[in-house]
Amino acid sequence: MDERKFAEALARASAWVARYFERTRDFPVLSRVRPGEVAAAIAPAMPEEGEDFDALLDDFERIVVPGITHWNHPRFFAYFSITGSEPAVLAELLAAALNVNGMLWRTSPAATEVEEVALRWLRDALGLPQSFFGVVYDTASISGLHALAAARESLGLDVRNQGTAGRDLPRLRVYCTDQTHSHIEKDAILLGIGRENVVKVSIDDAFRMDAAALDRAIAEDRVRGFLPMAVAATVGTTSTTSIDPVPAIASVCRAHRVWLHVDAAYAGPAAIVPELRWLLDGAAAADSLVVNPHKWMFVPVDLSVLYTPHEALLRRAFSLIPAYLETPESEVRNYMDYGVQLGRRFRGLKLWFVLRAYGRRGIVKILRTHVAWTQELARWIREAGDFEIMAPHPLSVVCFRHLPAGLAQNAAALDEHNQRVTEEINRNGFAFLSTTRLSERVAIRFAIGNARTTQADVRETWDLLLGTARRLANG
Ligand code: PLP
Repeated sequence: MDERKFAEALARASAWVARYFERTRDFPVLSRVRPGEVAAAIAPAMPEEGEDFDALLDDFERIVVPGITHWNHPRFFAYFSITGSEPAVLAELLAAALNVNGMLWRTSPAATEVEEVALRWLRDALGLPQSFFGVVYDTASISGLHALAAARESLGLDVRNQGTAGRDLPRLRVYCTDQTHSHIEKDAILLGIGRENVVKVSIDDAFRMDAAALDRAIAEDRVRGFLPMAVAATVGTTSTTSIDPVPAIASVCRAHRVWLHVDAAYAGPAAIVPELRWLLDGAAAADSLVVNPHKWMFVPVDLSVLYTPHEALLRRAFSLIPAYLETPESEVRNYMDYGVQLGRRFRGLKLWFVLRAYGRRGIVKILRTHVAWTQELARWIREAGDFEIMAPHPLSVVCFRHLPAGLAQNAAALDEHNQRVTEEINRNGFAFLSTTRLSERVAIRFAIGNARTTQADVRETWDLLLGTARRLANG
């Protein structure tokens, strides 16, 4: 592509993006394609000769866009709703153009230093201690993996060199609850800890870890000769956004000398709101903490941040410098030393752009609004009379179900009914909701988190849901 053609193509692509943001709400939120439909529309083999960008963009519009579930849609209320914000989209374009690999400081000093500064800004905005060092990974699942690897390194077992197989090692134990995100178990699989050694501590009726039960579980494991390694507490669990009692958990961890990992992937960003600062109470005692700006801080997927006061330990777990990567600078940070991957995208740029373009006040205003609308939605649900709220809803998610009189005594039929209601809304394309299970029963999850959502979006979706639920119950 020569320079003139590239400039024209860029203008077309930019115009497409700008227009997309103007008309995102015109698309069905959940893609309507059937399995295999997208692949079938694409040529079975790559072309022999290169094609023009016009052909590519046309096929993008014709084949790809119908196969998109629009996470940017203001009525995307499933999972955790997110935002690909304008400043971050622009940062992604610029970063793609630069195409730097920030593995070493010298392979792009700006990639390292922008990331360092943006992570310090974010840390300070969330009220985390200045002793916390931050590093960007792609996702919370990978941040958690590195945190648990650092926890294992802290035990001094020299797993780094000797591995775990064929050695006389005690079982390493990780503690969480049945509300903890599944990545903790996956990380345990990858680290050779094994799922059986991920202990599910009991929870209270608000889906929060019982710190006294944690204390007992660790003490019992010690008696059995196991080695308690880490506790994963969650601030904002995936199903209900429950908040584990981090201060009490931190005391247990301190008493037993166990690593405290805090998963604040979703709710952590909300600590920027002054009246929600309490969310991270106790987090200063964490050995590692994850926040995902790609969840509730308008940064497009992917960007997860791991903070830890144990920078040297994390580096010790992973640093390995072959001759071809040696550099003369000794006073700099080479981010390749803090994880498995060598190559690193310039992710820090989009975080820096978002923090600057919105400013602290801009972010606070939107997150505060999301929480207020969620509380309003919960009020509508309660006032409807034939619905049940199934969990506390301190933040921007409500879990609830329709309880029509005729089905109230039949648990399986109720589950099926609520699943049908959700599927009907999703098929309609107007909005997208997801479900979870709480105490084994199906709950509809309504998650607000997109910066383009309006209160009318929330109201209209609730009205549709209410009407759909009653119609299906009566039909
Ligand atoms: N932690 C929590 C609390 C989550 O809700 C999720 C995903 O929803 C994750 C971790 C995993 O996030 P990621 O997709 O960044 O790995």
